[in-house]
Amino acid sequence: MLYPWHQSLWQSWQQLLGQGRLHHAVLLLSAKGSGREVLAKQLAKTVLCQNCDTEPCGVCHSCQLFAAETHPDFHIVKPEQEGKQIGVDAIRQCNRWAVETSQLAGQRVIMIEHADAMGEAGANAILKTLEEPPSGCQFILTAQSLDSLLPTIVSRCNKWRLTTPDEQDVKRWVEKQLMQSIKIEAVRLNNGAPLATMQFVEQGQDIRHGNLIDAFAAFLQPPYIGIYDVAGLCSGEGITSLKWLSYFMVDCIKLQQGVSEYLVHGESLAKVQTVAGLVPPAVLIQQVRKINELHRMLEKQRGLNTDLLLVEWLTGFLGENNSVS
Ligand SMILES: [Zn+2]
Repeated sequence: MLYPWHQSLWQSWQQLLGQGRLHHAVLLLSAKGSGREVLAKQLAKTVLCQNCDTEPCGVCHSCQLFAAETHPDFHIVKPEQEGKQIGVDAIRQCNRWAVETSQLAGQRVIMIEHADAMGEAGANAILKTLEEPPSGCQFILTAQSLDSLLPTIVSRCNKWRLTTPDEQDVKRWVEKQLMQSIKIEAVRLNNGAPLATMQFVEQGQDIRHGNLIDAFAAFLQPPYIGIYDVAGLCSGEGITSLKWLSYFMVDCIKLQQGVSEYLVHGESLAKVQTVAGLVPPAVLIQQVRKINELHRMLEKQRGLNTDLLLVEWLTGFLGENNSVS
């Protein structure tokens, strides 16, 4: 089932499919948590359907195999783990699939999820196939943004950006799904992505986020105790919590500069004000930079002593030059 925010892009694709004009290599760009794989698979299922050109009929042999995830002409390649690269061998496999004949005497679809995780060698290996794919072969690539994609890949694809709804609409949609009211803060912490926001609330991260911000604001007030509480809450939550702290400090910096609109933590303004009043701007700026670095580092190298690194980062608020006054 497609989500409401998929509809307009889907209709554009349907039109092109109906006219037989859909590009052989489609690149779908969208934020994490917007359900783009659902949309990409809907396209794949439609291309493969034996009865209909513009939507999957749901009853043909192809549609049934697709639903059972055993379609012999549908292939997916993605990183083995989030944040990892797609190996060049997996990309070479795509090239082999591309030249195979269809087992159902129809089209073949090759989907590359997180195409931005292709390394340079992988990207180079697929370029020729993307440029001139064998007939009856449809490529669907997905990625979060153009930033991390190699321009050579981008130039060979037909780009489509899935826009997420307005944040008030996201809020209303999540509230309807969960039958509870949520804060706009939850939407903003998840970059406006509806599914990510829903998961955030469902998994109780909204509550743990609140607890972390409380502990952090409390730690920054004399007598500066509770450093291990903050570190413990962060390492219990995982590296996402570093992003939360980063967003919170950016809000404090904005407030110090007189900007009070569009804060992520607009609903926790009192806490933002407290910390903005306690910690000098230069310290906040430096600490944001450091926690973002720490986030990148922990993302790449799992298994580091997160607690220790966080405590070290938190002491940065107490250093002699940084004295929290
Ligand atoms: Zn069908």
